[in-house]
Amino acid sequence: MPTYRGSTVVFDRQADVSDDWRQTESGYSYGLYGTPTVLELGARIAEIEGARHSFVVPGGQAAISLIYLAFCTSGTHALVPVTAYGPNRELAVGLLKRLGISVEAYDPLIGAGIANLIRENTTLIWVESPGSVTMEIQDVPAIVCAAHGRKVPVALDNTYAAGVLFDAFAHGVDVSMQALTKYVGGHSDLLLGTVSVAGAGAYEAIGSVYKQLGMAVSPDDCSLALRGLQTLGIRLERVEKTALEVARWLAKHPNIKTVLHPALQSCPGHEYWHRDFTGSSSIFSIVFDERFTAGQVIAFVDRLKLFKIGFSWGGVTSLALVYPNLQRPGRHYGGRLVRLNVGLEESSDLIFDLTQALNTMDTPV
Ligand SMILES: *Cc1c(COP(=O)(O)O)cnc(C)c1O
Repeated sequence: MPTYRGSTVVFDRQADVSDDWRQTESGYSYGLYGTPTVLELGARIAEIEGARHSFVVPGGQAAISLIYLAFCTSGTHALVPVTAYGPNRELAVGLLKRLGISVEAYDPLIGAGIANLIRENTTLIWVESPGSVTMEIQDVPAIVCAAHGRKVPVALDNTYAAGVLFDAFAHGVDVSMQALTKYVGGHSDLLLGTVSVAGAGAYEAIGSVYKQLGMAVSPDDCSLALRGLQTLGIRLERVEKTALEVARWLAKHPNIKTVLHPALQSCPGHEYWHRDFTGSSSIFSIVFDERFTAGQVIAFVDRLKLFKIGFSWGGVTSLALVYPNLQRPGRHYGGRLVRLNVGLEESSDLIFDLTQALNTMDTPV
């Protein structure tokens, strides 16, 4: 696919002039709604996810904002799991609160019990499965069933699954977003997101706000994401295998209290992963034994050589990060939780690196 750059589109005749964001139907009309390169990326994500349409947006967080602004307005109520991606919750208590939109956090393992939290003015329910950092898998079908019983749409943050390992629309979700920044990009060198919709109502709701917000993306970045798609399958296969080898090895290490990896039984909600997912990906967390202090855990991360310290996962490089101030009601990790992202390195090299950092935990840096 060539990289089509461009703002203006020249029309043959005045009668052909259009300013419609529905470019896949009405034809290419303006760069802001996507050039042919951007539209091609959206079409391929839609094909992978089984969506009617995928809007390409500047990043995962932009996708989250777009979904809120399409479904919520002053005086409405939304529900979001406490384990949602941090900036989702920041938006909820920041800008959205200022706009008069109330967003309530709920226990990710609530399942059908979500019915008790739905109010007359609830217009959006978020799910994110597994949850960020603490990896709880949600009973998405049960939540969808309760939500649809009250005619409330459900939006899913499907970044963990790359839109591949969990079929959002087959499980009844109305809107599915992902940060292409992670697995689709795959090389930590671009920021993009998608918002995918199955129904006509969500298509119109998202599309009109997408236009109003002017969420343009760079065709060059989309070209990189299209290239990323060519190796997405093989990268996902590889990181799944390596992450499982590393996670299973860590689960047996005496310094580790528990491993929060969706494919392991020790992960809360593992049974839903087993029922609903076709695989696991590169990211999981470890919780250190209580005999270690938060300082020793930080020293462990600082001692890692192959694992780099960084946020945005899904690239070729393995990453580690401590979450010292994790807010999880009723659960206290005491700075002993470390999130790992597994890249394309050899699992034996990663285990070698972990071994040297684990075995020196009792000695000061
Ligand atoms: C990274 C991430 C996002 C945000 O993506 P950006 O492209 O960095 O804005 C949203 N949700 C989840 C679960 C993520 O991991």
